[in-house]
Amino acid sequence: MHKLILKPGREKSLERRHPWLFAGAIARVDGKPEAGDTVEVRAADGGLLALAAYSPHSQIRARVWDWRARQIDAAFFNERIARAAQARAMLIAGGASDSVRLVHGEADGLPGVVADCYAGTVVVQLNSAGAERWREAIADALAALPNVARVYERSDADVRTLEGLPARSGLLRGPALGAPGALLIIHEHGLKFKIQIEAGHKTGYYLDQRDNHARLRTIAPGRVVLDGFCYSGGFALNALAGGAAAVTAVDSSAPALAAARENARLNHLPDADWIEADVFQQLRKFRDQNRRFDIIVLDPPKLAPTAAHAEKAARAYKDANLLAFKLLNRGGVLMTYSCSGGVSAELFQKIVAGAALDAGVTACIEAWLHAAADHPVALNFPESEYLKGLMCRVGA
Ligand code: SAH
Repeated sequence: MHKLILKPGREKSLERRHPWLFAGAIARVDGKPEAGDTVEVRAADGGLLALAAYSPHSQIRARVWDWRARQIDAAFFNERIARAAQARAMLIAGGASDSVRLVHGEADGLPGVVADCYAGTVVVQLNSAGAERWREAIADALAALPNVARVYERSDADVRTLEGLPARSGLLRGPALGAPGALLIIHEHGLKFKIQIEAGHKTGYYLDQRDNHARLRTIAPGRVVLDGFCYSGGFALNALAGGAAAVTAVDSSAPALAAARENARLNHLPDADWIEADVFQQLRKFRDQNRRFDIIVLDPPKLAPTAAHAEKAARAYKDANLLAFKLLNRGGVLMTYSCSGGVSAELFQKIVAGAALDAGVTACIEAWLHAAADHPVALNFPESEYLKGLMCRVGA
């Protein structure tokens, strides 16, 4: 087998079971591995550290499949995927939703593999050279899971470019969905959502916000709610279902707003005020109009994919949160999120604290909010804690 031999002292992070090996740690490559090939990672003294997938085009030169000598083959993927699915079966036993994240990359021992199951349709993203190499085995393993009718690929995330991989999407297993653009309906806490797996964001829906959607519903009765970055209406619909007095929802994407509006109709909910606009500009407009809200949700897209973008992203987070604090009534609640890998929970809290200060309000954190349990955080891979949220109540 091909080997990556590390520089002296560079085995530390692998010994702590961090699954990424950066190019700078490698002294020598023995053999001629190609993209996606399984390689042995060995310390300078020759000791075996891990088996990993080789990514010649990425700074993350290898991602670990396992920490001991074993075959990396179709059976390996069957076993890992079955184990991930079993963990989710326990999580969703309560029946809150018919849709779940089945595979969450490194946290399931499958770097570069993300799979969401929407009422029996699995949408998979293969984001690394190793995942790409094992595409057929991964598709077979997903298709073999109980209650899976089809597997659809949405490998079109930006990170593929860093791996030198082209974007790719299409049906992998099972019957076609029907007409092009056909929609699936999923259920989340009793609400229906139509999902567009071929053209929606990510794999089609934000399952990670499931618990936070429900949390908003409990505090919404009688409140005037603003959902900033609403996408297909996850928060807005829950506010409506919870009996909000009025809901305004803003997104810059016309198709997302059309989906959100349709989802409100599908659930026989009263209509929200759907606004197609840039949230940063719309918040300024609301400020100039002296508009006030009791609850504001801010769930922007990934503003800092890596730490290198953190500074610029920090300014954008601060800007939106500052404006939101100004628009809240006294006693009002801000539910604010960052899904940026490049912004830590600690930094995000500092940014929000700075925003409150500059807005001239005092506020308390009532809850730290996270992704739902089907998006677990691996202790050996803290980067898997990408979604950070704060629920802040404005005092004086
Ligand atoms: N809250 C949603 C998920 C939000 S995803 C849910 O729970 O399902 C982020 C959304 O922000 C996307 O719908 C995207 O279209 C939108 N978006 C990105 N940049 C924006 C901007 N500057 N102004 C308004 N919307 C924006």
